[in-house]
Parts: sequence; structure tokens; C-alpha cells
Amino acid sequence: MTSDKSAAAYLDIDLGALVANYRDLAQRVAPARCAAVLKADAYGLGAREVGPVLAAAGCRQFFVAHLDEGIALRAVLPQDDVAIAILHGTWPGTEPDFVAHRLIPVLSTLEQIAGWSALASARNGLAAFLHVDSGMNRLGLAAADVDRLAAEPERLAGIDVELVISHLACADEARHPMNEEQRRHFDALRARLPSAPASLANSSGIFLGPAFHYDLARPGIALYGANPTPGKPHPLHPVVHLRGRIVQLREIDSDEAVGYGAAFRARRPSRIATVPVGYADGYLRSLSNKGTAVVAGMDVPLVGRVSMDLITIDVSDVPPDAVAVGDTVDLLGGGVSLDDAAERAGTIGYELLTALGRRYHRSYRQPA
Ligand SMILES: *Cc1c(COP(=O)(O)O)cnc(C)c1O
Repeated sequence: MTSDKSAAAYLDIDLGALVANYRDLAQRVAPARCAAVLKADAYGLGAREVGPVLAAAGCRQFFVAHLDEGIALRAVLPQDDVAIAILHGTWPGTEPDFVAHRLIPVLSTLEQIAGWSALASARNGLAAFLHVDSGMNRLGLAAADVDRLAAEPERLAGIDVELVISHLACADEARHPMNEEQRRHFDALRARLPSAPASLANSSGIFLGPAFHYDLARPGIALYGANPTPGKPHPLHPVVHLRGRIVQLREIDSDEAVGYGAAFRARRPSRIATVPVGYADGYLRSLSNKGTAVVAGMDVPLVGRVSMDLITIDVSDVPPDAVAVGDTVDLLGGGVSLDDAAERAGTIGYELLTALGRRYHRSYRQPA
């Protein structure tokens, strides 16, 4: 852990903004309930910090991907009225760990169901969620599996099905026909299973309208500040602010090169600021010659390649007395929108956040 003084870069995480985003989403889906997805260490922001503030804001249902993530989250969310579900379900032999840590498996295969049913029958019943695949063909019970369950209901013996979920493939494209197709397919699959509350919408799914809200919404990325409605104004608040510190400033002549591969060549006498953040910190190499930063309130381009630990920024247009070694520049958040940065990197905000480095000096602003 770096100190304030020794750090090369600062990652500020605004938990107040995160809670505001949760409240906004919860209001949009009411009377449905609003869960929170904290897989991948809360998309890189820190599940230990994010979990408790969301629970304090009223969230009672959390999702993570792996059993180990659930065990870690349970340690900071011990409350009995807080439910933690594991999206990837069980591996054979792990079933007792779910019970020991009060975790709910989301069962996606007949094998997982068989393993859970065996333990559940021996214990006079255990809760589980079922995941049905409504067209994404990634994870979840296929239509043929659902048929088997309908024909042989004893396969679910002992299992108290508390929720049936499915996941949307194209929710971020509001007009994509797949959204409505998946919704209909989801309804058809649910009708063949024991009646239970339902959940379909991720972040973007929430913005497809009430027909997609069912009983529980499962936002992840929108909580963390990416725009869940691409192409439309951002309806929520940014949460992450990454600043790097200028370690060196240099003047170069027209036609001089910058960085590996001499991939940038100055077209005019230029001033270059070097900032100790690189791809090892999750500042993606695909931002080479494409990234932007904000220095002294001005948008400036990243020039040359992203190195492992360093980037170079062209600050020629910033008044010379407005920038000095030691100053911080916005790399993400502040003047640089997460979604713009992701687009420049040829990826999505999810990848930028989950890649956020471990070398930053992290601070969390608690909700007011
Ligand atoms: C990751 C995930 C979510 C959350 O998705 P966002 O797009 O981040 O809101 C919801 N449901 C499932 C099954 C997921 O895997």
C-alpha cells in the first residue's frame, strides 16, 4: 500500500456516488427489488468497501461469480437478512461450503441441481436460484434441461427455488430484437418450472422498461459509474477518479520521437509530460496514441505507446506555468469519462474498471 506522498497515482472511489446510483436504480425498478452484482471484487472497486455501504443503503441481495468471492463477501456482510448468491453455482463437493457460509448457489446445470438436491434432501430443504438460458447460449439451463426438470420434478427434491434468473445478451442496445425474444423465451421457460420470483435485468436491462424488471434487478456496471444507456446521456454518477502524477517534463523538437517503437513523432516543437502509470496498472496498451488526459483543465492527448509503467502526454497547449512536475493529471474520471476512455481503448468500461491496478493509492470517500 502506497502512502499519499510515495504514490505515483491516486484512485479515488466515491462511495457516496455509488450509493446514489444504487438508490436511483432501486427507484427505477420499484416495486421490484434491486440487488447488486459485486463479482470481480466489485468490478475492481473493492467488494469489502462496496458491500457494506450498499447494505447500509438497503440492498439485501448480492451476487458474485465465485464461491471464494462469496465467502470473502460474507465475512464483511454477516447480517442474516443479507443474501449472497453465487452466479457460477457449485462445483461437485463444494455444496457444504455454501451452507457453512450461508451462500445461495445459482444452479445452471442438471449436474449442479443433482448435487444440491442430494444435500438439500438430507437437510430437509435448502434454497437455490435457477439460471435458465434464454438465448445467450453461455451459462444456464438449456431448454432441454428445463424440459427434463418439468418431466422429472423429483430432480428438484429438497430444493426451495427462491428465484429464477436469466441474462440478456444485448441489453445495451435498446432496440435490438433479441431483448424481446429473450424476455418471451424466459417467460416460456419459467412457466415449466416451479413458480418462483424472477430476475432478468442487468444494468442496461433496467432501462429497457418495466417489462424487464420482474421481481429483482441485478445491476453491476451502472453502480460503478459507466453509462448503461450507450449513446444517450449518462443517467447516473461517475464513481472512479484516477489521477497520475507528472514525474518529468521535457521539450522536444519537431520530428523527435516519443516512446517505444517511436510510434509518435512530434509535428511541432512539443512539451511532453511523463506519468508513472502503464499497462501493468490496467491502463490498457490499446490506448497508445489514443488516450486522453486532463491537465490544468485542458484536454490533452496521450502520445506514443503505453509502456508497462509509464505514459507520455502532450502538454504543449497547456500554458507553461500551469503545469509542473508533481502535478496530477486526470486519467479516468474527473475530466475523462469512463465510457469515452473505453471507446478509445476499443473496449467497454467493464474492462477498464476490472483491470484497475493494485499500485494506486486508493481512497474511499464514504457516503455523507
Ligand atoms: C455480471 C452480471 C450481471 C450484472 O451485469 P451489468 O451489465 O454489470 O449490470 C447481472 N447478471 C449476471 C448473470 C451477470 O453475470
